[in-house]
Amino acid sequence: MKHKVLVGMEVHLQLRTRSKMFCGCPVKFGAPVNTLVCPVCLGMPGSLPVPNREAITMALALATAMGCEIAGLTKFDRKNYFYPDLPKGYQISQYDRPLATGGGIEVVTEAGAKVVRLRRLHIEEDVGKNLHDDAKGLSRVDFNRAGTPLVEIVSEPDIASPEEARAYLNALRALVQYLDVSDANMQEGNLRCEPNVNLHIESGGTIVKTPIIEVKNLNSVRNVERALKFEIDRQLAEYRELGAAVAARPRATRGYDDQRDQTFVMREKEEAHDYRYFPEPDIPTFSIDDQWRAEASARVPELPAARRGRFAAEFGLSDYDADALTRERSTADYFEQVTAAGAPPKPAANWIVSDLARHANEAKKTVAELRLPPARLAALVRLVEEGKVSRQAAAKDLLPRLLEGGDDPAALVQKLGLARIDDLGQIEETARRAIAANAKAVADYRGGKQAALNAIKGFVMREMKGKADPAVVEATLRRLLA
Ligand SMILES: [Zn+2]
Repeated sequence: MKHKVLVGMEVHLQLRTRSKMFCGCPVKFGAPVNTLVCPVCLGMPGSLPVPNREAITMALALATAMGCEIAGLTKFDRKNYFYPDLPKGYQISQYDRPLATGGGIEVVTEAGAKVVRLRRLHIEEDVGKNLHDDAKGLSRVDFNRAGTPLVEIVSEPDIASPEEARAYLNALRALVQYLDVSDANMQEGNLRCEPNVNLHIESGGTIVKTPIIEVKNLNSVRNVERALKFEIDRQLAEYRELGAAVAARPRATRGYDDQRDQTFVMREKEEAHDYRYFPEPDIPTFSIDDQWRAEASARVPELPAARRGRFAAEFGLSDYDADALTRERSTADYFEQVTAAGAPPKPAANWIVSDLARHANEAKKTVAELRLPPARLAALVRLVEEGKVSRQAAAKDLLPRLLEGGDDPAALVQKLGLARIDDLGQIEETARRAIAANAKAVADYRGGKQAALNAIKGFVMREMKGKADPAVVEATLRRLLA
């Protein structure tokens, strides 16, 4: 069935300010329940909100980085609804005059790069958190989070696949980390996203539009991708069943159950008029002047795309390495520190993107959080490049020791007996033993199976504990087998 996928993304991002959006309570995770509260964030009658300038500046910096048009005049509005985590019965948000509109985020997938256009960016306050104690049959509310500043970023429905949705979130996360305005961690809930998805299905010269479905309960980028895959299939199945009548079905909000990998109906989708928005009477309309804009612009550092381009041009890195190094700002900074400490850039990039990234992954940390001093990695890279230790031995034996706190790579090479073996006599002797011990592989190789050489080569490398140069071993084997 010929169809187009349309996904628009709504992202809520908690800003990493010291205090809340409209009061002086600290923004902090993990504090005892209901200890970071005051009359304002509890919504006591008569309390008055005062906007947090720093939060607005952070949001302006983000808007600037995404090329949004910043409003000259902006205001806050009340979004009215009742929920136990919202005791005052409304949330302070922005409705018809958001802080910024337009702009876009560049996403890169295997299909290439494209820009996802943005509709708007506005500020609002977070709500409290319901804590359900199923064992006791009780629910309690923690208001520590109530009033935390949020930025909501709404995209146009330009995202055309689950893969693009993932790329969009990753690009947004990288941007936010570079700007240092939020932790943007989905597991911890400081980045929350709700994709809106529907299909345009071609049917006998007309286009049938399935109703827009908003998906909630997504706590990882991977689940966003999975939920969208499920939802696309579900909407296609619904079209097969109902035909063009599918277009008359109501828009709905569906939750995602990651255990079952499926979405389920929560409720019909709310429309703006359900919220009875009206201007927040306690906060005057305000303008963003040139000085404030300049202050926000000054906070925008070299962004991931620009840094990627510079790494490729300045250091001669491949697009792949440049991209992998710049996804996290701290990793890109680390790479520059390692090259500044004297490591040749290309091999340094390779060590960071492959070996260090693997160790970081295993430890669930970032490369920078491994805390390997840049000078030490630079020394290791140089030892390998100068041929004093083989790359294999350095990766397998030397790097783990350095990560455990070993401090002098050159001394460790001596101490661990890792110095590369350049003794051709010893390599040839081991190669002869390998040939004698691997009759089948030898016969296969001589019979024309080039890949069989790897088994024999592996034998030599194991015998020599990875200390020989693999290229020399291979050349020696080819010569002896010729
Ligand atoms: Zn407060």
